Amino acid sequence: MFLFIGVFPRERELAVVRFHCDHCHEEAAQHVIELGSRLWLFFLPLFTFSRTYAVTCEHCGWVTAVSREFARRVADRAHA
Ligand SMILES: [Zn+2]
Repeated sequence: MFLFIGVFPRERELAVVRFHCDHCHEEAAQHVIELGSRLWLFFLPLFTFSRTYAVTCEHCGWVTAVSREFARRVADRAHA
């Protein structure tokens, strides 16, 4: 029997907020993103694991790793 199983990277944008970038010191849009690996069985996504969170500056492209709590708090505030 043929079994198609795979793990692929997954990137999901949680929110876009404006604040001063630590790198370029400009106030610009900051993209809060969730990075992870997703397990696929045939053509169905099963679950995502190894999640990390980051903020990407739209002005300079600098990527800063942030905690899950920080990413969730900023995303909740942006959607409130
Ligand atoms: Zn920047």
